[in-house]
Amino acid sequence: MLHDLVIVGAGPVGATLALAFADDGLDAVALDARPAGALGRGDRSLALSHGARLILERLGIWSAIAATRDAVTPITAIDISQRGGFGRMRLDALEQGLPALGYVVSYRALQAALDAALGRAENRVVYGARVTAIRTTPSYAAVDVTQAGAGLELSARLVAVADGGGELISGLKRHHHDYGQVAVVGKLAPREPHGGVAFERFTPEGPVALLPEGEHYGFVWTTTPSQSETLLALPDAQFLEALEQRFGLHAAARNARARTQPAGFERVSDRRAFPLRLEYADRVVGQRVVLLGDAAQALHPVAGQGFNLGMRDAYELAQELLATPRDAIGARDRLVTYARRRRADRAAGIAFTHGLLGIFGSDAPLLRWPRGLALTMLDALPAVKRAFAHAMTFGLH
Ligand SMILES: Cc1cc2nc3c(=O)[nH]c(=O)nc-3n(C[C@H](O)[C@H](O)[C@H](O)COP(=O)(O)OP(=O)(O)OC[C@H]3O[C@@H](n4cnc5c(N)ncnc54)[C@H](O)[C@@H]3O)c2cc1C
Repeated sequence: MLHDLVIVGAGPVGATLALAFADDGLDAVALDARPAGALGRGDRSLALSHGARLILERLGIWSAIAATRDAVTPITAIDISQRGGFGRMRLDALEQGLPALGYVVSYRALQAALDAALGRAENRVVYGARVTAIRTTPSYAAVDVTQAGAGLELSARLVAVADGGGELISGLKRHHHDYGQVAVVGKLAPREPHGGVAFERFTPEGPVALLPEGEHYGFVWTTTPSQSETLLALPDAQFLEALEQRFGLHAAARNARARTQPAGFERVSDRRAFPLRLEYADRVVGQRVVLLGDAAQALHPVAGQGFNLGMRDAYELAQELLATPRDAIGARDRLVTYARRRRADRAAGIAFTHGLLGIFGSDAPLLRWPRGLALTMLDALPAVKRAFAHAMTFGLH
């Protein structure tokens, strides 16, 4: 039987794709190696832009995520600063007449809401199904799957690979850039309620980001591989001390309860480290295949770009497929149109993250750094964008 579409991986991006045309009569099947109800990845805090929220609203699952306790934390302000420097910028949602600049969402809650919605939709998801190979011909693609020890083969007009790695497609060249840096991530209990304020602090040794999530902060601390091992081995109290020092927290400002910095941290939990790499495929389409999400480009989380880019990949691909007659699904010209549609957004996300990471560890000029998270939050906010552009052009205060 020839399916219209096989989606490899029903993580946040693959599941978003499947949901986007769930009720539109397309014969699609999504395969995921994880057991039903399990997570494909460890839990983490995803910074969602306003645009990503709109996509989830259109798919009808935003309210389910928002109703889950502590699953969505609105970012009320972003404070961007440089340790030891004089530059500082703050974007405030209220000042811009907005309910939030963006949202921090837990991977677990997002995946659970997507899985539940897919369970109700017509499209099929097969869990515990690991794809081992993809072979393509000019007229269809064949997918080898192992499930419960048995092998089976599916064929489709198009295979969308959203497995987070993209290695199954050998014909598309992948670029790897290792920054020789490691991100130490985890959760912090703040001494005082965070009020939804996110912080991005640039230090000569690299950036530290704090994202409000539930009652905690999720943190991303960029450092060298050897220092990351030391940091992971430190007892909690010493780790907190080191983090406060790196962040440049000082008692005077803490006592003044200034909202220009967090009021210190009481506890740390869930410390983990992962290497800082930029990885992306040269082209996102090939014969009867398309790559999306992290399979197409895996960007470092400090810039908050990668996941939002993946959501847009899924949504745009769904729009393209919905506008395509069934017979033409997977045809070369249609895939080329999709790739063209995604080119600028993708290139900007990759170049931006690379540019941001490229200045890690250096004493970068003031006007080059204050960008990461803030830019991601600004995609639908022209007024803020103008203010931001003004600050970038005329200096910060
Ligand atoms: C260690 C780490 C930490 C991160 N931290 C952050 C962060 O703090 N903030 C942030 O914004 N982003 C973070 N990211 C990035 C973020 O997690 C990704 O952008 C997002 O998960 C991309 O979603 P995806 O659906 O493309 O891929 P994934 O989330 O990787 O999902 C892929 C899915 O495919 C399935 N799968 C894999 N291989 C197969 C196969 N062969 N057959 C069938 N199914 C398969 C998996 O089970 C999984 O469900 C992090 C990434 C990593 C690796």
